[in-house]
Amino acid sequence: MLTNDQLAQWDRESFFHPSTHLGQFARGEAPQRIVTGGEGVYITDRDGNRLLDGFAGLYCVNVGYGRREVTDAIAKQAGELSYYHAYVGHGTEASITLSKMVMDRAPEGMSKVYFGLGGSDANETNIKLVWYYNNIRGLPKKKKIISRWRGYHGSGLMSGSLTGLELFHKKFDLPLDGVLHTEAPYFYRRPEADMSEGDFTKWLLAKLEELIQREDPDTIAAFIGEPVLGTGGIVPPPVGYWEGVQEILRKYDIVLIADEVVTGFGRLGTMFGSQHYGLQPDLITIAKGLTSAYAPLSGSIVGNKMWQVLMQGTDENGPIGHGWTYSAHPIGAAAGVANLKLIDDLNMVENAGKVGAYLRRAMADAVGDHPNVGEIRGEGMLCAVELTSDRSTRAGFSPVGSVAGKVVGEMVKRGVISRAMPQGDILGFAPPLCLTEGEADQIARVTAEALREVL
Ligand code: PMP
Repeated sequence: MLTNDQLAQWDRESFFHPSTHLGQFARGEAPQRIVTGGEGVYITDRDGNRLLDGFAGLYCVNVGYGRREVTDAIAKQAGELSYYHAYVGHGTEASITLSKMVMDRAPEGMSKVYFGLGGSDANETNIKLVWYYNNIRGLPKKKKIISRWRGYHGSGLMSGSLTGLELFHKKFDLPLDGVLHTEAPYFYRRPEADMSEGDFTKWLLAKLEELIQREDPDTIAAFIGEPVLGTGGIVPPPVGYWEGVQEILRKYDIVLIADEVVTGFGRLGTMFGSQHYGLQPDLITIAKGLTSAYAPLSGSIVGNKMWQVLMQGTDENGPIGHGWTYSAHPIGAAAGVANLKLIDDLNMVENAGKVGAYLRRAMADAVGDHPNVGEIRGEGMLCAVELTSDRSTRAGFSPVGSVAGKVVGEMVKRGVISRAMPQGDILGFAPPLCLTEGEADQIARVTAEALREVL
C-alpha cells in the first residue's frame, strides 16, 4: 500500500485541484486531505480522522455516504450495461425510469427532462434552449440573460458568466457579453440599515425593472436564480421577492430558470424549492441531489410552454443539435433511481425540514449571543452563520473571509466540516438530509467552541 507521504507528494506534483490556491498547494502550504471512506454523515481520511460532514461534500451527498441501496444499483447497472448513449431515441430502463421519477416529482407545468453531467453543463443547456426558443419564436434579438450578484450557476464559459461572484470572473475575461447581473436579495447586506424587509424587496424589484428597461425588454430572454442563494452565502430571499420577480418576468415575456442544483430533491424540506416559494419556472436546473453525487448526473427540466416551441423547432430544422456523449449515462441514471427511492423510503424531505429547523435553533442557542454573530439564517437543511466585526454596523472583517476560514479550520480539528462561503465571513452548513438532532447538536457545539477559540 502507498504511504501517506507518497500519495501527498504525487498529489502536489500531478493533481490540478479545482477551486484551490495552486501555488500554495504545490508548495505544501495549503491544506491537503486524502479521503478514504464515508458512512452516514461521516467521512474518514488517511490520517485517521472521522469527520461529521456538515456540508454533505458540496451540498450533494443528500442521502449520506455508504448507502448500499445506491451502490448496489450502480454495481448492477455497471455489470449489465455500463454505457450506451441516448442520442436518436436511445434509452435504458434506468434512464427512462429516472425521467419518469423526476417528472412525477417536478413542479406543475413541466414537460420533459434532459440529462447532463453536472450543474454547470445543465445551465449551458438551459441557455442554449432559451436562445433556440426565441429564435424559433422569431425573436432573434431577445437573448440577454439576467442573473444576480452572488448567484452561483457553475464555472463554464456561460455558467461561470451567470455566476455572480468576483473570483469566478477575475482574469477569465468573464462575464461574456449579454449576461447582466442584478442586485442580490441579501437582506443582511441591504443598502440602508433602516430599510424594512418589505422595502428591501421593493428596492430589489425596482432595480430589476430598471435594468430591463435600460437594456430594452425586447433584448432580455431569461432570468436565472436559485430559490435560496447557495454559494453566495446561503441567503433565503426577503418576503415577497419571488412573487414580485415573477410578475416582472411575465410582464416582459422573460423566461424563468430556477437553478435547483442545491435546492432540488428535498433540501428545503419540499421536493423542489420552486414548490417552497411558489415559483412557476420555464426551466429547472437539477444535479447534486438527483443522485446524491453517487455518480455524476444533472438535468434540465423543460416546461410545457417551451417544450411546444422546441418541438416546432425540430419539425422545421431537424433534430436538436445539442447532446453530450454521457447524457443520461446509465450508471448515473441507476444511481438516480435508487437515490430518489431512498429519499422517499426514509422520509428525507420531511426530515430535512424538521431537523434543519432544529439545527438553526441549536445554532442560535449555541452562538446567537456571540458578539461577532450577526445573523443565523437558512431554510430547510441549510444554515449560515454570518460573522461581523461589529454587530451594530454589520461591518465585515479585514481581509474578508479570514475569520470564517480560521473558524472552519478550528471546527475540522474538532471533528466537524463546515464551509467558509466566498465574499464574506460566512459559515455555511448543508449536511446530508438524514441528519439527526444529536448530530445537529454536535455541529452547533463545535461551532461555538471554534468561535470561542478564534474570536
Ligand atoms: N448551480 C448551483 C446552484 C450550484 O450550487 C452549482 C454547484 N455548486 C452549480 C450550478 C454547478 O454545478 P457543478 O459544479 O456540478 O457544475
